[in-house]
Amino acid sequence: MTRQAASAPRRLDFATELTRWEYAAAPETTKVEIAPRYGHFIGGEFVGPIGGGGHFASVNPATEQPLCEVAQGSEADVDAAVRAARDALPAWAGLPGKERAKYIYRIARRIQERARELAVLETIDGGKPIRESRDVDIPLAAAHFFYHAGWADKLGFAFAGHEPKPVGVCGQIIPWNFPLLMAAWKLAPALACGNTCVLKPAETTPLTALRLAEICAEVGLPPGVVNVVTGDGRTGAAVVNHPGVDKIAFTGSTEVGKKIAAAVAGTGKRLTLELGGKSPNIIFEDASIDQAVEGIVEGIYFNQGHVCCAGSRLFVQESVLDEVVEKLRIRMASLRVGDPLDKNTDIGAINSMQQLATIRRYVEAGVAEGARLHEVNGHPLPDRGYWCRPSFFTGVQPSHVVAREEIFGPVLAVMSFRTPEEAITRANNTPYGLAAGVWTDKGSKIFEIARRLKAGVVWLNTYNKFDPASPFGGFKESGFGREGGLQGLRSYVQL
Ligand code: ADP
Repeated sequence: MTRQAASAPRRLDFATELTRWEYAAAPETTKVEIAPRYGHFIGGEFVGPIGGGGHFASVNPATEQPLCEVAQGSEADVDAAVRAARDALPAWAGLPGKERAKYIYRIARRIQERARELAVLETIDGGKPIRESRDVDIPLAAAHFFYHAGWADKLGFAFAGHEPKPVGVCGQIIPWNFPLLMAAWKLAPALACGNTCVLKPAETTPLTALRLAEICAEVGLPPGVVNVVTGDGRTGAAVVNHPGVDKIAFTGSTEVGKKIAAAVAGTGKRLTLELGGKSPNIIFEDASIDQAVEGIVEGIYFNQGHVCCAGSRLFVQESVLDEVVEKLRIRMASLRVGDPLDKNTDIGAINSMQQLATIRRYVEAGVAEGARLHEVNGHPLPDRGYWCRPSFFTGVQPSHVVAREEIFGPVLAVMSFRTPEEAITRANNTPYGLAAGVWTDKGSKIFEIARRLKAGVVWLNTYNKFDPASPFGGFKESGFGREGGLQGLRSYVQL
């Protein structure tokens, strides 16, 4: 063997070598009680469905086992919930803000007290890693209620010179990617402003919203102030179309958002929409590359890419492209995919079989269009459940479907650029505008680029960081209206 050959760096076989570093299993041991069957939460109590909707199973996507049955809300169920909310409205809206605040504060405290139970439930119902539900979803949900409890008696200061009044009955429809957190984003500001609510969780992840209903009852929230009706899109449509609803707040796909906007047009109902995204992350050559790669991984692979603001398009300055791609491969190979209840798991189960099929279709489309697929993670996957290895594409053209459409899975499209101008133009070249990330060491560049990116949130040298005081929402087809912060209160008051 020549001297040169002996000292040449050994190329890692990613698929096998890095995943050899086995951790001992660290399973979450908290056991959660789940009833065999749940009804709706209407007027302060759990009631069986009326109107013939029946029940359907909520499935654990990591095992494909049914967890329990939940009610499919009919128009009659939605009507009962809207009536309960309407009946509760005068008393709730008439309470002094400081009294409403006490209830909201108690909800926050109770979420904290039941945090582990909620985290486990979120994980088994939705498939996300326990680390994520325990450290992100549940603490942020509690933080949202704490934050809005603080506003309830200060609305006069929030809207100085006005006497803010509640909008009325709010119909709130949420998706499956952050079930409890999205419920908190919707309910907390509505309650703080004196509105009453009918919440419709996603059909694949209703269980934590039902626990939250239980918490509302536990803390003595007056009956009818919060109602939860479970079911699929038909139940959502019944909420949207009910004449007794004054405002619709929706988070979900752009496709359904457009349908809702059409249904609400001309009815006088208020509407806020938080829809899809194809958010860009831009790495400049002067960035700290290791830090950037970690942020990219967090932005697209954690939570299985089930994040509406996932950084799913990566633009890398050409001079550092090879370095970034190599580091991304190494990091991606070390991600642990599998049992969401294991505390070591980075990537859990895909939320449903349908979503897994959608992701696979996109990956196939990317390959068919000529992009190069990198799938270097060889971590052994469980036999049952809906799993998707993290991957990324290089050689992506802006016209490729993987560069244009929201995949909602752990799949990243990597592209390069030469100048800041080109990066901005290409990042903005999308019908969406929910979020963006910029990675550079130069402060002036940060502000210049952030100012010119058309996105509701721009993260700088970080990604996917949330705070209840910071408004979140989109441009263009990513929706309108803001959630969180002072701006988020605006859509829940009449001035
Ligand atoms: P995703 O693609 O993230 O699943 P969807 O937009 O399909 O998003 O679903 C988000 C929420 O909207 C879910 O609670 C779903 O049941 C509800 N939904 C689906 N279709 C409709 C509809 N036509 N009207 C109102 N809500 C709907």
